Amino acid sequence: MTEYNSPTLTLTQQLIECPSVTPEDANCQQIIAEYLKKIGFTLQHLPFGPVQNLWAIRGHENPIFVFAGHTDVVPPGELSKWETPPFIPTIKNGYLYGRGAADMKGSLAAMITAAERFINKNPYHSGSLAFLITSDEEGPAKEGTVKVIEYLKAQNIQLDYCIVGEPSGQNTVADTLKNGRRGSLNCYLKILGKQGHIAYPDKAQNAIHHALLPLAELAATQWDNSNEHFPATTFQIANIKAGTGATNVIPGILDCQFNFRFNSESTPEMLLDRVKETLKTHEVQYELEWDVSGLPFLTKTGKLISACMQAVEEITKISPVLSTKGGTSDGRFIAPTGAELIEFGPCNATIHCVNECVKIEELELLSQIYERILELILLSKGA
Ligand SMILES: [Zn+2]
Repeated sequence: MTEYNSPTLTLTQQLIECPSVTPEDANCQQIIAEYLKKIGFTLQHLPFGPVQNLWAIRGHENPIFVFAGHTDVVPPGELSKWETPPFIPTIKNGYLYGRGAADMKGSLAAMITAAERFINKNPYHSGSLAFLITSDEEGPAKEGTVKVIEYLKAQNIQLDYCIVGEPSGQNTVADTLKNGRRGSLNCYLKILGKQGHIAYPDKAQNAIHHALLPLAELAATQWDNSNEHFPATTFQIANIKAGTGATNVIPGILDCQFNFRFNSESTPEMLLDRVKETLKTHEVQYELEWDVSGLPFLTKTGKLISACMQAVEEITKISPVLSTKGGTSDGRFIAPTGAELIEFGPCNATIHCVNECVKIEELELLSQIYERILELILLSKGA
C-alpha cells in the first residue's frame, strides 16, 4: 500500500477510511475486534443507544493494564479547506493526513500493534491486557466509557493501569504526558425575590439586590490552595440575567450561571456546601442546580508514570514533562476507579483542525513506546 513497512500505518489508514463522526463507529471496532481476536483477546461488544463500545481482555490475572481510546472523530468541518479528502488517508511529505489521524486512530493503531508484538514475544506475561474503546468521546460522552466502567464495576473488574491514547504531545510525540486534569462543575443559581413597581419597593423584593452581596462574596472566595500538580480552584460567573427590560419594574428573579475549575483539593460537595453556606448567611431565597462535567484526577508518581518515563527516555532520548493542562477526556471516567492513568498519544498540533495529520515515523515510535511500557508493567516481578 505504501513505501512504508509499518503495520501501525496500515491500520491507521484502514481506520481513517471509516467515516466515524460521533456517535458513528462506522465499522472501526469491527476491524479492531478482528485484530484483537487473532491475538487471543476475549471480546465484549457493549452498544448503548447509538454508541458502540468494545471491551477486550486477554488474561485472567491482576494487574489489569488497559489501553483506552475512541473510534469517533469530530466532523471534518469545511471540506473545501481540506487539501485531501478527510476520510481518504493520504500520505504527503512523511505525514499521514485524514480526520482522526492524530485524534485518535493513530494511537489506537499504535496500541494494537504494540499489543500484538508484545503478546507474540511474551505469550505468558503476568497480569492481563485489555482495551476499552468507545465511539462516544467527542460527543455527549454519556453512553460510552462511563457505561463501560459501570459494566466493569458490576463484573468486579478492577483496572490497575490505564493509558488513554489522547494526543498529548506539544511538539513531538512524547514530550508531554498528561497525569491529571482539573474538574469542572457548572452551577445554575436562581435568586428569588418578588416582582413589583419600582416606585413601591416596600411591596417588592429586588432579586438583583439580594444577589449582589452573596455573589460578590463568592467571587472573592479563596476555595482552596494550589498543590504540586494543580493551580488553586477557580470560580467564574459566566452569565447573569434579570429584569424585564422595563425601567419601572423591580425584578423578581435573577438567574446566574457560574463554573468551578477545581483541583484535587476540593470536591463538588465541598464547593456546593460553601456556596449554600454563603447564600444562607445572606438570607436569600434561591434554587440551585448543578452538573459535574468532570471530576479532577491525578496520577501521582507510581509504577505507571515510572514505566512511561523510562520507556520514552529509552526510545526517544527525551525526558517528557508531566502536565495537567487541557480540556476533559474519558480519563475522567476511568481514573475515579482507582487506576493509575496517563494520557499519552501523538502530537496534538492539528487535532480537530482541517488537514489533521500525524507524522508517520511518530506512529511507529509511539507503538514501540507502548510496547516497552507493557514490558515494564507486565513482565516485572510483582506485576
Ligand atoms: Zn480524542
